[in-house]
This record gives sequence, C-alpha cells and structure tokens, in this order.
Amino acid sequence: MTETTGHHHTVSSICCYCGTGCGVEITTDGSRVLAVTGDGAHPANFGRLCSKGRTLGDTTGRPSARLLRPTLRLAKDEPAQEVSWDSALDAVSGKLADAIREHGPDSVGFYLSGQLLTEDYYLFNKLARGLVGTNNVDTNSRLCMSSAVTGYKLTLGADAPPACYDDFDHAECVLIAGSNMAFAHPVLFRRLEDAKAANPAMKIIVVDPRRTDTASIADLYLPVLPGTDVALFHGMLNVMIWEELIDRDYIAQHTEGFAVLKQRLQEFTPRAAAELCGISEQDLVTAARWFAQSAATLSCYTMGLNQYSNGSDKNAALIHLHLATGHIGRPGCGPFSLTGQPNAMGGREVGGLATALPGHREPGNAEHRAEVAALWGVPALPATPGLAAVELFEAAAEGKIKVLWIVCTNPAQSMPEQALVRAALEQVDCVIVQEAFNSSETLAYADIVLPAATWPEKDGTVTNSERRISRVRAALPAPGQAREDWRIADDVAQRLAATIAPERLPAFGFVDAAAVFAEHATTTAGRDLDYSALSYEVLEARGPQQWPFRDGHGTARLYGDGVFATASGRAQFVDVAWRTVSDKVSAHFPLRLTTGRLRDHWHTMSRTALVPTLTRHVEEPQLAMHPRDLQRQRLSSGDLVKVRNKRGTIYLPVVADDTLRPGVAFIAMHWGGAALGGQGINALTTRVGDPLSRQPELKHAAVAVEAARLP
Ligand code: SF4
Repeated sequence: MTETTGHHHTVSSICCYCGTGCGVEITTDGSRVLAVTGDGAHPANFGRLCSKGRTLGDTTGRPSARLLRPTLRLAKDEPAQEVSWDSALDAVSGKLADAIREHGPDSVGFYLSGQLLTEDYYLFNKLARGLVGTNNVDTNSRLCMSSAVTGYKLTLGADAPPACYDDFDHAECVLIAGSNMAFAHPVLFRRLEDAKAANPAMKIIVVDPRRTDTASIADLYLPVLPGTDVALFHGMLNVMIWEELIDRDYIAQHTEGFAVLKQRLQEFTPRAAAELCGISEQDLVTAARWFAQSAATLSCYTMGLNQYSNGSDKNAALIHLHLATGHIGRPGCGPFSLTGQPNAMGGREVGGLATALPGHREPGNAEHRAEVAALWGVPALPATPGLAAVELFEAAAEGKIKVLWIVCTNPAQSMPEQALVRAALEQVDCVIVQEAFNSSETLAYADIVLPAATWPEKDGTVTNSERRISRVRAALPAPGQAREDWRIADDVAQRLAATIAPERLPAFGFVDAAAVFAEHATTTAGRDLDYSALSYEVLEARGPQQWPFRDGHGTARLYGDGVFATASGRAQFVDVAWRTVSDKVSAHFPLRLTTGRLRDHWHTMSRTALVPTLTRHVEEPQLAMHPRDLQRQRLSSGDLVKVRNKRGTIYLPVVADDTLRPGVAFIAMHWGGAALGGQGINALTTRVGDPLSRQPELKHAAVAVEAARLP
C-alpha cells in the first residue's frame, strides 16, 4: 500500500533479511529512503523490527556498492567491458542456445536464491524446465532448509510447516533445537520472550552445542554434541513410551509405522541416548516429560538440524515426538521449521529446487510433469533428474556444465568446499552472475554480469515461515541500469524462444510482477498449498494471507482434523537409524568446528557490511574455543591461529568462549576470503550431505588448530 503526504511517499513492504517476514513501512522523498519503520499492522511483527530491519534504510542510496551496468568479457583472460542491455541479453541467450545445441540442455545450470521474490523464482524455473529443458535449477535454499522439506514430506506427506506465529502465545512448552532464534529470527524471539513473560509456567528447552543467547531464556539447556540430535529425540521418545506419556489414541487413529519405530527405540535407553549426546540422563528424561506432559508443545528448529548429513533423520525424529504425543494441529502445537531466508518458502512453492516442480509437485513424477507441461503449454518437461547445489558444482568442475547462471547469491563464498567450487567456476565456459551488489566474491568468475534491482526497488511477493504471503513493494527506482530479476529472465526467455526448437515455446512476455504471480497461483490449484484464489488485488484488499487459501480464507494451522497429506491420510513414523556426522574427529583433526550466524550480519554481508552500527557488533572473524582447549594448546585470546583440515586452511584470531563445550569450536559464517587472507570459512566445510535432502553438512567439520603467522 502506498500513502503520499506532501513530497513524502510511504510504501508498505517486507524486510529483505530473514524468514520471519516482518512488515516494514518505507518513507521516501521519491529519490531517497528517509525512514524505515515496522508495520504495526503486519501480523509477523506488529511493528517490531530487529537491528538489521531498523537499519535497512542505511543500505540504500549507495551507488558505489552497486552493480550499475551489464558487463561482458569475450575471453577468460580479457577484462570485462560495459555493454548495453540488448548486447548482454543477446549474449546470454546466444550462450544458452549454443550450449543446448552442442551439449544438450543438461549442460546448462541455474543457481538461484531464497532472497529472490516468488515471481523471480517462478520465471527462472519456467525458463529452465519449460524452455531450456533441464531440471538443473537449484538454489542456495538447498544449503539451509532442504532437510526440513524432506522431514515434513517423509512424516506428514507435504512440505508444509503446520504451525504459525500465534502458536508462541498458546504453547506451554517450546523446544528450540539447532536454532539461535535470538540472532537469526530476533523478532520471533521477542515474541517468545513476551509469551514466556505472560505465562511463567511455560517451559523452554534449548538444544544446541553452543549456549547461545537463545539459551538465556531456557528452563533446560541441553548442550548436545554436534550431530547427535537423533539420539536425543529417540531417547526422549523411549522415555515417553516407558512412562506411558504417549497419546495412544492419536497414534492409533492418525499415524502408521509406530510399531516398527518402537523396536528401533529399544536401543535408545535414556542412558545410552544421553551418552551419545554427551548430556546428563536426567536432563534428557526431564525434556521428555516436559514435552509430553505439557498441554501444548511447539518445536522450533533451523540449521542445527538441517545442515547435517543426517538432517532429514533429525527432522523426522523430532516430528515423531509431536505425532506420538498428539502435539500437532492445535493452538500452541507442532513442529515448526523456521526458514532462514526471506523467501525460501516461496522458492519451494514455485519448484525452485532441482527436486521440485511448481505447486509442490515433483520432477520424478510423470503425472506431475504432465500437469505442469499442460499449464505451460509445452509438450513435456524434462525427466532427467536435476543436479542439486553441490552436484551442480561437482558437474561444473568435471566440465559438464557449459553455462551456469547464478542469481542473487554468492557461491564462491557460501558453498562448502570452497576450493572445489572456485575450481568449478573457473571451468565453466560461461558464468553469468546476476547480482545487485559489487562485493560478491563470485563476480571474479563472471563472464557476463547482469545488474539486478534489489530491496526496496522491486515488486513481488514473499512467503514467510508461517506460510504467509505478503506483498513486497517498490519504493524507489533501481540505480543505474539495474533491472528486476524476473524481467531479466523474461527478456532472455523471449530471445531464446526465438532461437531454439519452436515446439518448446512456453509463454513469456509478462507485463508486470502481478501477471507472473497470477500464472504462478494457477499452478497451485488443487494442491496442498492451493492459493489459486489469491491475487495482488486480494492481497491489497485483505493484507498478507497464509496458504492454503480456500473459500476466501487463509489457514493458520494444518492437520487439525488429523488427516495428513500422505497417500493413506495418516502421518508416518519413519524407522530412523542412528548415524552421526560424516566428518569425524580424529587424532589429526580433533576439534569439532561448527558455524552459525551473528545477530547483525546477513549471509556474506553484501548489505549489512554497509552499515557501521551493524559491523560494530562483531568487527572481524574469530575462532571461538573453550578456555580449556585454548589452555591445552597454550593459546590466548587474540592469538592468530591456523585452522585447517584436509580441505583447506584459514587464518584468524582466536577468542576464549565458555558458551561452547570443550572440544567444540565456532566461526560465524559471514566472512569470505577477503577478510581471511585468501580462503573463506567454507574452505573448511564439507560438501558431503544428507542422502535424501542433498543438503551439505555446513554445521560440522573436523579441524586442527595451531598458533600461526600469516603466510
Ligand atoms: Fe528483518 Fe528478520 Fe529482523 Fe524481522 S526479524 S526485521 S524479517 S531480519
């Protein structure tokens, strides 16, 4: 919505950082942002903003930080030249057409971002699958939430978080596992603090190898060893069974597979499970009792469950606790995966993953492919499985990807096993980087650079963690020649359609973001997320809405009727076996390194590093280690150390931190090679991932630490 007072215009939009999806009001004078305030009417935040949201205005109006014109380099060893948009778009279309003709459609890859708007995501997906003819379209959301997707699908039958933010106000017990909400979802965390203040009887259990700020409100803190959450959740369920705390009626009426899982759980006695996790048996028993005996239990979880090679197992094992106790589908209940990025959910809805198609369909399902092909007016969609993020870069390193189009993300810094990713980027014939900011380390590998518009210059929609779709509105024109992401995809698609096989011609030429949304919404008709009745007009008139949106209403909670999205309508207990991290500690690499976010930075800092007040929170990368580990190695806070493993080496100062358990070290994920003498933090992380979700184990790497001098 837009309001004009004198020379000032105020536009309602959404914060572009985390998946909380806070509403903001942006006031401009037509050329500059004058103020950004919280939108008191938005149900995600009711006017609140965190430090990042409050300073959004300081990140705008900085042309020196932006890419302003398309550039092109004709050969890898030649400098890039500024070119017109027509030349850049022709070059992209030509490179795609050549690759398709000479090497086939699967020689093309698209690597997208959970920071794109739904409309951007939808058009890139349509371009990749409907026109180019490849399922090689994946996203940086693969790195943060794909194990949550598989967890939901395995147990509940659909990629649909069943809970909502109102549940904080109704929960009697909240289990927070692998999530530093206080830093990563600060406004939600404030809501939880308020709920706890209003209901002092509420029990909060925090599970995390680090005693984070989130743990400061815990009634019970469980400092599990990295990667051991399955043992914790299995052990808790074992206790619930032995103490008759499960809801036998709910299990009998609404679930399948409990008997098989129960057999598995016999080995997870409280003592055995607690030993695997490195916590006290009594604490595990207490957690089980609080979870089961509460009138309403909510679980919140993020990367600490997802970014592991057993991420899907961890998600399923946690969801089991809700199914076994009937804590789902009621106010204050449910397993609630909090999305990290602002539109990871929207990307899942449009099929912006190699493993998804629009409307929560799957590319491996022939019926689903035929449905989308019919909607797009093409004879068929590609059946060859697509490459997920890590596989895409592995294929690129092997010379199998000839054109790689990277949009709104910085894989040279953010992907695990950085050396391999950088080698892959050097190997690709044509790397296209579509980006708003000029600080991305991936730009060094770009053959074609396409300058993109960014917040607050774009129109579209995003879906937040509670399935709520909100309008994102442009408040200012984009600087220089930067353009909206969806429009760039559309322009290339129209050119490419004219040069490749005429029988594969899905419709492009969208006039605006509303038209893209209208087409996308039709792909959800009849599906679990159905919001085919939503439009920009409805969002304008009724405000943000939660899917599914049927009979003129959004849906706050799912599965209240006990009917799940599985073939049988029953939720599934999965026989989850015990596995732990892939990168095990050894005599050579004895420390367990884990990674995470800081309160005031976002991803690779292209935006937050522009704001001095944010940078001041933590000014430089540091390795945090337990004081006992420092002492053992005769190190002191401030010493420069070398952190290494078989994948890479980085240099940074060390700091004593007793919020870690001994044997565990921590580095914030934000800094790249520029701050660390060449290689970034992801030089150390592993590309080994979860076999189901294909999400890499970014949260754990075995490393060695020693005193160092810069090389
Ligand atoms: Fe933005 Fe997330 Fe902070 Fe809300 S909580 S203001 S969405 S960063």
